[in-house]
Amino acid sequence: MSAAYDIAMGYMYKCAPSIADQFVIANATATKDALYPDINLDALNWLERTWANYYIWMGNAIMATGVISFVLHEVVYFGRCIPWLIIDRMEFFQKWKLQPTKHITNAQIWKMTKVVVLTHITCEAPLIWLFHPICCYFGMATYEVPFSPVWLMCAQIAAFFVFEDMFHYWAHRALHWGPLYKNIHKLHHEWPAPIGLAAEYAHPLEVLILAQGTISGPFLYCLFRNDLHILTVYIWVTLRLFQAVDAHSGYDFPWSLRHFLPFWAGADHHDFHHMAFVNCFSTSFRWWDFTLGTDAKYHAYKARVAKAKASEREAVNAREMERAEREGLEAERLVVAYGKPKKA
Ligand SMILES: [Zn+2]
Ligand SMILES: [Zn+2]
Repeated sequence: MSAAYDIAMGYMYKCAPSIADQFVIANATATKDALYPDINLDALNWLERTWANYYIWMGNAIMATGVISFVLHEVVYFGRCIPWLIIDRMEFFQKWKLQPTKHITNAQIWKMTKVVVLTHITCEAPLIWLFHPICCYFGMATYEVPFSPVWLMCAQIAAFFVFEDMFHYWAHRALHWGPLYKNIHKLHHEWPAPIGLAAEYAHPLEVLILAQGTISGPFLYCLFRNDLHILTVYIWVTLRLFQAVDAHSGYDFPWSLRHFLPFWAGADHHDFHHMAFVNCFSTSFRWWDFTLGTDAKYHAYKARVAKAKASEREAVNAREMERAEREGLEAERLVVAYGKPKKA
């Protein structure tokens, strides 16, 4: 390992010395003196001590932040997707499947996994190398300890949720405009009945565009206040990934969050977007679609199903879903052909 590292560093110093400087690994004493000169680490709590010791052990803050960012994303994303794959195989949960007749095959799961992993490695990994310098540029605390107080973390995360939802709503609507749809967003709509893994099954440009909603909120926040710690951003990204995977899960349980928080979108909302192609553009909350009327078809569908007699509800729901999907396919065809879901 160290021989390979020495060879790589020697080569980098020849070609790009300023980049090579960023990969120098310092020993533990030098790192501790450089990062934590006036801090008594023993006086901190376990998590803060572990955090500081990790940065000391890595000996290079850029690599430490890069590794933790990449690993966190992979572990949280796939860790959240796997339970949904198991649930999808269990008979007990099928009564809560939003599109019960649609099933994803193992070959399709493998295809989704390959695309997602490839995008993570080719698009995300190189950018993550820039993450630490960008955080420092905006004044976000990274290796620093102690962390922010819990109340501040909660307030910051709530603000990031609201900002991301607004960004996503408008960016997603823009992605439904003909040229952007045809060339970018169409890939994500390959699945009219998605599963959790489909959350990041998207064109690399779409991943980059929509990631701005998640990451630019914290950076914008740093322009106004200098009390944001990267740990808060990691918790925010974790919750955002949970939200994205769950919204694609294809299941709406009686205990799903939207039944307790009426403005929470949940799978029920986003699944309709995939099935009907139109309506329900936001991620976490329902207020943008509600205020701008881009959930009219969704509510009309719900109302028609609710109006049916209990004995006929299942059949009415199946018929309504078939109709929504048929109209959605036509709307998609028109967007691809004319750039809009309706003829002028
Ligand atoms: Zn869409
Ligand atoms: Zn989606």
